[in-house]
Amino acid sequence: MRRALPICLLLLLCSPAACGRNGKRHTDWVEIRTPHFRILTDGSVERGSAVGAQLECSNEILSAKFVTDGNQPAPPLYVVAFRNASEMRQVAPLGEGEAVRLGGLFLDTGSGRFIGIDLSTQNLNHIVAHEYSHSLVSSAGGQRLPLWLQEGLAEVFAASVTGESEIFESGPPAKKIPAMQLLGFREDSHEYKEQAFHGAFYSQASLTAEYLWMDQEHKKRLLTYLELTRGGKPIEVAVQQAFQKSGAELNRAVAEFASQRRRARPAAKGSCTKVAGEIVPVSDLDAQARVAEFESQTAEHLDDAIHKLESILSENPKNEIALRGLAYGLWRRGDLKQASESFARAADANPTDANLLYLSAALDTDGAHDQPAKRQRMQTALLKAISLNPDFADAHHWLSLTYAWDGDYLAASDEGKRAVELDPENEQFKFNLAAFYAHSQRWSEARGLCEGLAAASNKDVVSQAEALLKQIEHAQLEREANDSSPTQGVQ
Ligand SMILES: [Zn+2]
Repeated sequence: MRRALPICLLLLLCSPAACGRNGKRHTDWVEIRTPHFRILTDGSVERGSAVGAQLECSNEILSAKFVTDGNQPAPPLYVVAFRNASEMRQVAPLGEGEAVRLGGLFLDTGSGRFIGIDLSTQNLNHIVAHEYSHSLVSSAGGQRLPLWLQEGLAEVFAASVTGESEIFESGPPAKKIPAMQLLGFREDSHEYKEQAFHGAFYSQASLTAEYLWMDQEHKKRLLTYLELTRGGKPIEVAVQQAFQKSGAELNRAVAEFASQRRRARPAAKGSCTKVAGEIVPVSDLDAQARVAEFESQTAEHLDDAIHKLESILSENPKNEIALRGLAYGLWRRGDLKQASESFARAADANPTDANLLYLSAALDTDGAHDQPAKRQRMQTALLKAISLNPDFADAHHWLSLTYAWDGDYLAASDEGKRAVELDPENEQFKFNLAAFYAHSQRWSEARGLCEGLAAASNKDVVSQAEALLKQIEHAQLEREANDSSPTQGVQ
């Protein structure tokens, strides 16, 4: 369940006055509700509504380009529009010990997708479209894409909404980044967090992504490149094998593409329906909880955010946002037992959230083999989660395990089979189902699954499947020997 942490650090472009610290903390929070989005803001209604309208516009133009991965519904999207840079710093990751100054931020940590926007930024529409593009790429399974491609695609898609491309080239001429360096950038790298590099980074990432992703032949090669690097090939080797180019040749190809593209056309602005939002007041405690939940998504702010969420709960122990935020925060910090209890309380307060129910069961399984009461609690929570989301593969998988611990391999096989149907790529699910079949003496089904796992990418699963296959063969031989014995069935 735990996913990689894509972080977008889109640079802030704003006037010094707008970016300056503002002494008094504003506490009038409202939520702006549009047909598809809810934007929490402490800024002006006019700017907050502009974010809502731009999100709707981006959704109208971009959503048809994306297909979600189908196994799970997209995690919820939480949008907070902070009134200025000072407020935005609460959720910004730290670089060199200080909060990075950002116009927009996107995070996806598995508990939800979070977009933060600084309303004082000048290029608000582009930043909103850029961050929303991240959320679409992420829901379509893009969390595993390398940083340059995630950022490059977000820029390309944002440009198709706003008609603005290479927005950072309006400043001083950006230093070009060689392709090999660009392809190797990581979210935690000093270069990425270093402000001066960002203009060049986004511009180069956008050009390289457009060059490699938008052309079908190039895209095929790019997919090969991604597969090679995921398999551990060094970037230089993967570039040469996939693109048949050296780093210098790739630099030249991207530069040539850039110059042709500039001559050919300016980016076209997408057109969309104007949408007005409804303004709904939000209590200060709920707003604090929403912001603290956002803060808890970033490792640097996690402890502080947990402290704030606990403090909110001491004022109102039933605040559902704080309960949810605290549970995920404790989980992210690795306090699994506490997190499991916290998820159970959060699930009571948020009875339609299947993920909270699932995690209340899946995080504290110690001793469940020997404790029927604990298994019963797990089964109740998992069955509720499945009733809310019948396609919840992980919940079906955990339910199958609890039935196996009960010794009910028939029920375990049924649930395990459903988990495999919903997530057919999951090798561990397949192995567990093979084991349930073997316990039920459904030898041929067990054997078929084990043989299919011989080429699994998870080497532990390969060796588990080999061992199970040997046990199946042994058990079958024993059975055949018993069947052929003249005394069989006579005693
Ligand atoms: Zn980004």
